[in-house]
Amino acid sequence: MTTPISEKEHAVLVDKLASQCVKCALCLPHCPTYELTQDENESPRGRIALFQALAQEKLPLTEKAKSHLDQCLGCRACERVCPAHVEYGQLLTLGRALIPELPAKAPLKKLSLSTRFLSWVLTQNTMNRALQWVLWVLQKTGLRNVAHLIKLPSLLGIGTLESILPKVPPPLKLLPFYEALGPKQGSVSLFTGCLSSLCDQETTLASIWVLRHLGMDVTIPTNQTCCGAIATHAGDIQEAHRLAKQNCQVFLDQNIDYVVTTATGCSAVLQEYASHFSFSSDLKVNAFPAFSNKVTDIITFIQNHWPATLTLSPVKGLAILHTPCTRRNVLKSPRDPEQLLTKIPQLTYKTFTSPHCCGAAGTYMLEHPLIAEELAQNLLKDLANLEVNFIATTNIGCALHLNKEVKKRYPQVKVVHPIILLAKALGF
Ligand code: SF4
Ligand code: SF4
Repeated sequence: MTTPISEKEHAVLVDKLASQCVKCALCLPHCPTYELTQDENESPRGRIALFQALAQEKLPLTEKAKSHLDQCLGCRACERVCPAHVEYGQLLTLGRALIPELPAKAPLKKLSLSTRFLSWVLTQNTMNRALQWVLWVLQKTGLRNVAHLIKLPSLLGIGTLESILPKVPPPLKLLPFYEALGPKQGSVSLFTGCLSSLCDQETTLASIWVLRHLGMDVTIPTNQTCCGAIATHAGDIQEAHRLAKQNCQVFLDQNIDYVVTTATGCSAVLQEYASHFSFSSDLKVNAFPAFSNKVTDIITFIQNHWPATLTLSPVKGLAILHTPCTRRNVLKSPRDPEQLLTKIPQLTYKTFTSPHCCGAAGTYMLEHPLIAEELAQNLLKDLANLEVNFIATTNIGCALHLNKEVKKRYPQVKVVHPIILLAKALGF
C-alpha cells in the first residue's frame, strides 16, 4: 500500500499545527470531556500540549497520556470557537497517527472487537450486504432475540455493536438510476454511506423520493465505498487515503455537478478530502479538491434548490431537532434542518438545549460506551415532561446512539432523519 506520509513528516506537521495554539483557554468551556472531568488533560489545550510534546519527543508516551488523547470525541467544538483558528481536526488525525500501537503503525490493533468488526464489514460492499442478510434472517427467525437473551454478542466481544444496531429492514438493492419526477431541473449523484446502507435504508429511499420531487435525476454509483470516517477517527491515514481515492475516482467518473450525502458525518469527511490528503501524489493534483467541491449535504442542497411550486401535506407531531457536531462545527450549517422543518405544515419542533456532542462521535460510542451514554442522557433530559414524537438528526451515527439511549426511557419516540419527515409530507 502507498504510504501517503512519512513518520517524520507527521511529527513536523503535528508540531506545526499544535504551535498555532496560544493557550488562551477560550475553548475549555465548550469541550464535553473537560466539562465532565474538569481535568486540563481532558481539554483541547491539554491535548494540544500533549500532541506537541509527543511530536517533539519531549514526553514519554504513558498509558495515561494515551488515554487522554484517546478520550477526545473529535467533536471539534474547540475548533469552532478558537480565536487562533487552530486546526484541531487535522491535528487530531495526524497526532493520533503518531501514537505507537494505534492504527498508522499496526492497523486497528488496539481498537475494540466491535470497531474492528464494523470497519472490516463496512469498507467492503459485499460484506456489508452479507451482514444485512444475516441480521435480517436472524431477526425474521427470532434467533436475534435468542442470541440477545443468552448474551451471545457479548460473549463474542461485539455486545456494544449489537446494542446500537436497530432492527434492519429486508435487504434492498438500489437501482443505479432514478428519473426526476416532473420537469427535470438537474442531476445529482447520491453518496449512500456504508452504515446507512446497513441499517437505515429508509433515509436513503426518502432522500431519493425528495430529490426526484425536486426534479433531480439521481444516480447511485455501485462502486462507492465508506467515506473513511472510521479510519480517520482511528488515525489510520493509509486506509482513509485508500477509501478517499476510490470515492474520488468513482464519483468524478460520473461527471455530475453535485455529490449529495445523507449523513453529515460522511459529508464532513468527504468535504475534507482536499485538506486531509493535500500531501497525496497518487491522484491528479486537482482530484481531491474537484471531488470535495461537489459534495453537499442533502438538507443544504434542498434548501438551495427548493422549488416555490411544491406543496406539502401536514405531518402532525413534535420533533426535537438534534444538531450533530459535524453539522455545527465542520459544515457550519446548524440552522438548515430547522428551516426545512418549518416548511412542513402542523409539525412543531424544538432544539436540544445543550450544544454538546451526544457521545456517538464515530466509533466513540463503541470504544467509550460509558462516557457516550452519560453525554446522551445529559441531552435527553430535555424530553422530560414533553410529548415528543420524533428526534430528528442528520447523522446516522448520532441516530443509532440516540435511538439506543432514548429507548431506555421513551420507547414511543422515533429517531429519524429530517428528510424522512419531509418525504412524508410529499407522500412517501
Ligand atoms: S481556544 Fe484555541 S488558542 Fe485558545 S487554548 Fe483553545 S485551542 Fe488554544
Ligand atoms: S474535539 Fe471535542 S472532546 Fe476533543 S478536545 Fe475538542 S471539544 Fe474536547
